[in-house]
Amino acid sequence: MDTTRDSAAPSVCLITMGCAKNEVDSAAMARRLREAGFSVTEEASSADAIIVNTCSFIQAATEESIDAIFEAASLPKVDEGSAVLIVAGCMPARYGDDLAAELTEASAFVPCSREDDIAEVVARALRISLPVAAVGGEPAEGEGRTFAYVKISDGCDRFCSYCTIPYIRGRYHSFPYEQIAEDVEREIASGAREIVLIAQDTGRWGADLPDGRDLAWLVDTLAEAHPDTWFRIMYLQPEGATDELLSVMAARENVCSYLDIPLQHVSKPILRAMNRRGDAAAFRALIERIEAAVPDITLRTTLIAGFPGETDEQFEELLDFVSEGLFHYVGVFPYSREEGTAAFDLPNQIDEDEKAERAQVLRDAADAACGPRIAERIGKGAIVLVEGTEEDGQRFGRAQCQAPEVDGVTYVSRGEIGAFVPCTIADTLLYEMEGE
Ligand code: SF4
Repeated sequence: MDTTRDSAAPSVCLITMGCAKNEVDSAAMARRLREAGFSVTEEASSADAIIVNTCSFIQAATEESIDAIFEAASLPKVDEGSAVLIVAGCMPARYGDDLAAELTEASAFVPCSREDDIAEVVARALRISLPVAAVGGEPAEGEGRTFAYVKISDGCDRFCSYCTIPYIRGRYHSFPYEQIAEDVEREIASGAREIVLIAQDTGRWGADLPDGRDLAWLVDTLAEAHPDTWFRIMYLQPEGATDELLSVMAARENVCSYLDIPLQHVSKPILRAMNRRGDAAAFRALIERIEAAVPDITLRTTLIAGFPGETDEQFEELLDFVSEGLFHYVGVFPYSREEGTAAFDLPNQIDEDEKAERAQVLRDAADAACGPRIAERIGKGAIVLVEGTEEDGQRFGRAQCQAPEVDGVTYVSRGEIGAFVPCTIADTLLYEMEGE
């Protein structure tokens, strides 16, 4: 690497794989790099350093991340040695030294727990010292959007038997209120009109902090401080839907009447094998309690099809539950057998084709049950946060009942991007809505 550089700041390109939590981590790394004087660019081909922020939650995600690493490694500047490749995030956290032995193309590996040091790692790889020459660079992808993800904790203590997250991200740790408030303020100052609070397990926020605060307090405090901003809670485990939280949601108009509650299954024996609580009856009671407290609530869940030992009867129980249409949005994933998890060694693993088929049957049942739930909104009023314009000039945005990136959009006839526009839902097409 040439250490005699011109006065321009070295440029770093971040390529983000995986979920919204990784997007937040990439945005934090971009900030740290800019603070250290690097230029952050979206142009991988001309960058001096490329960071692939990987995901390895499941095998399919690991494979996608490996493809992205090889693609970055084959860029001419990396190939000829004038740019460095750095692998960050979940893969180094999950595979450690084994990864370094396999991926010799990379100059450095930065697990999630060491991402705060990213500027030092990049400087070391480029053989330069900090701070570098100048501060600059284009905003990273995602900045300037009408919504922003803000992470309120990391890690997880639940150890669901199929899940790699506790091994990748470590034990649950809440971020302090001051840090969250600062992140929220920064995102609002950059134009976000909606803050999406995320974590592996949002409902546990505060349990490990000394001051007795909980998620209900956090959401209430943030919503009061920023009355013109929407707040949305994602990834709330069933136990997190406390009466206090539901009261805050009912009382504050700027807290979206929306909950994403991952159930994963409803059969009691399967849930116990997953190391999770509850059953179909408990979940029905939970939904009833939520709907009584927040009558206009929209509910999303995620489910796993083909967990080891799932019998035809247990699958039918899940299918019947989905067909009841208790949720407006349902994400379905075939079980992914992950090395290092307890479920990896369970007997009666189900073959890949059967898992894929069960997942598709569940998705079809969800579409059939959810479409009518969405159509119930026709004729009702909604506020839409305008987010963009289609090629034909059609404006679109999202109502409170639509989370970013997963639940479809609402088409509207007018409104500046970033504006809240009142409308009446005139029509729906499965998950999309049309506002008048
Ligand atoms: S609660 Fe979520 S992140 Fe935590 S172990 Fe279970 S599936 Fe994984």
